[in-house]
Amino acid sequence: MAHSGEIIQCLDKKEAEMLAFLESLVNIDSGTYLKEGVNQIGSIIVPKLHELGFEVERLPQADFGDHVLARKGGPSPKRLLCICHMDTVFPEGEAKRRPFRIDGHKAYGPGVLDMKGGIVVLLHSLYALMEADPGLYQALDLTLLFNSEEEILSPTSTPYIIREAQAADTVCVFEPARPKGQVVIKRKGVGKYYLTVHGKAAHAGAQPELGVSAIEELARIILEFHALNDLEGGLTVNVGVVRGGSRSNIIAEHAYAEIDVRAVDQVQIDRIQQESDRICRPHREGIRLELTGGIAFPPMLKTERSLDLLRLVREAGRELGVDIDEIPTGGGSDGNHASHYAPTIDGLGPQGTGAHSPDETLIVPTLLERSKVFALFIEKWHQFFAPKEDYPKGLPVLQ
Ligand SMILES: [Zn+2]
Repeated sequence: MAHSGEIIQCLDKKEAEMLAFLESLVNIDSGTYLKEGVNQIGSIIVPKLHELGFEVERLPQADFGDHVLARKGGPSPKRLLCICHMDTVFPEGEAKRRPFRIDGHKAYGPGVLDMKGGIVVLLHSLYALMEADPGLYQALDLTLLFNSEEEILSPTSTPYIIREAQAADTVCVFEPARPKGQVVIKRKGVGKYYLTVHGKAAHAGAQPELGVSAIEELARIILEFHALNDLEGGLTVNVGVVRGGSRSNIIAEHAYAEIDVRAVDQVQIDRIQQESDRICRPHREGIRLELTGGIAFPPMLKTERSLDLLRLVREAGRELGVDIDEIPTGGGSDGNHASHYAPTIDGLGPQGTGAHSPDETLIVPTLLERSKVFALFIEKWHQFFAPKEDYPKGLPVLQ
């Protein structure tokens, strides 16, 4: 086993290279629906995976960029799965409008934090291990999955995530660290519902008695959904998009809403499913309702085994003089599904703020810091983490 000092030194020499790699990723638009751009990100990553000794498979998707699945076998009795997404939430032209830029300790650009910075952290920590501790690197059994559509809740990659997490002993996800550098072992479940309300149009002045207002019905539904909010219990419901009607002098024939739901556990999810069935029954004759969507990400499970992972990350941080804690979050990620099949830790990417907004900011020194943390974590994980057995059956889910 290499002294951790060698790994740290090795990474210290790579900072310029890491920033150049990050710049090349950020300056390509890879919004979820920009298939070409996401595939270009894949094409930049694949040669690096070959250098790192991986066999790479591209998994083409009809409507999205290819997912990239990479495997490197090794004699280790434990398999580690690492998950990154290549897509961002931004439209075409965003990278031209505000290309990658560094100002002091901060870097900017679309996806710089979420999660192009995370991709850089993962790959460079592996380069450092390969160079500074080749014996260990050769022993590791690694699978990496780079998916193309996480920002719309991974509709096509979820089956791969589940399959690979089932076969893994541990899953690491490279979403950004939380604002104070915390990692994540507990996330809320995330649901999205789409509601269309059909009523009956009529002249609002001349013959209002002939109309049935879709907007009036939707107004009731919105209030009933919002009444389900239980901030203390962690259940949140938000009707975040509303459309309807055509003119003020016409009783509205159509209305539409999108509803975001976040739940801490299965009890809350069951409750939401029952309540949405109840709320979305028409209250007036002439109304028809169509509700689609549902829970896309189950809650991420915090267990004794994920706490073991946290301990190892904390130890790695301590060697670098960095105190790393965990914090639960309402944002979902691919760690949510994965955590039902293997102990999972997320938030291993760099620190910053403003994800999904033009203010997205990466704290530059944490790119290097988190690469060191992850490389040291792998050494400890390899040495101390017990392979998973019969997970998560019988394991209490922790609050
Ligand atoms: Zn992300």
